[in-house]
Amino acid sequence: MDLGIKGKTAIVCAASKGLGRGCAEALAEAGVDLVINARSAGPLEEAAAEIAAKYGVKVTPVAADITTESGRAAVLAAMPNPDILVNNAGGPPPGMWQDWEREDFIKALDANMLAPIAMMKAVLPNMMDKGWGRVVNITSQSVKTPIAVLGLSNSARAGLTGYVAGTSRQVASKGVNINNLLPGTHETDRIANLDRGVVATRGGTMEEARARRTAEIPTGRYGKTEEFGAACAFLCSQKAGFIVGQNILLDGGAGNATF
Ligand code: NAP
Repeated sequence: MDLGIKGKTAIVCAASKGLGRGCAEALAEAGVDLVINARSAGPLEEAAAEIAAKYGVKVTPVAADITTESGRAAVLAAMPNPDILVNNAGGPPPGMWQDWEREDFIKALDANMLAPIAMMKAVLPNMMDKGWGRVVNITSQSVKTPIAVLGLSNSARAGLTGYVAGTSRQVASKGVNINNLLPGTHETDRIANLDRGVVATRGGTMEEARARRTAEIPTGRYGKTEEFGAACAFLCSQKAGFIVGQNILLDGGAGNATF
């Protein structure tokens, strides 16, 4: 399928690996020039070179912490007026409800709610002026099916989801579509770290932790970053102009709900 976005430009935040990288690759495959971002310069530059060589698009790496104002300014300076924005950042650590203090919530809100909102506020005016734009926010399955130990994530992402629900409907008449992708368990470092956390608290082996997690997923496997990226590229495509303010679960059926 021709996604119709060859020659467009995109910022993909937090994209040297994992889900962000999957999105960057799928957009590059569709012919989109990219600014990609992560904090560590080395792996980011490697990712940029690999993507550019594989797909023949321009890929500019910007090493910066997207949860800070200066980090966002650096990314936006490299591409002030993207056609497409994919918001992403690392997820908050797991824990217990009674352990989280104000500072923990502020960090989670900064990373998983206020950073994507600031990025949207920066790029939406130009998208609206041009009459075309796409924004995809990488959130989490925890928005629909709470994960108790990820209370910081549940809270911050619910806030972003509320913002997108209203804002997406305010900008849709200008040809700008904002949607959220909700990953379930995917084959990334983040999930390996969460599995390591399970081993540290409950004992057992990594294989056992992985088997327990897999048993909860009807597909019987973790998701692939390529699959996630393909869904993102579709939402960023010309074909997705009638999809507004949706929260799309990519979880292999793990969320056991009818709607
Ligand atoms: P990952 O494999 O650990 O990759 C994270 C990427 O983001 C890396 O490129 C990392 O590079 C970059 N990054 C992290 N913090 C950043 C920051 N503050 N500024 C800029 N870049 C940053 O993680 P992932 O699994 O792809 O997860 C991505 C998001 O989806 C997270 O918020 C996670 O909680 C959420 N999620 C993931 C899953 C899953 O199954 N993987 C499920 C539900 C939700 P640097 O470290 O160099 O910055």
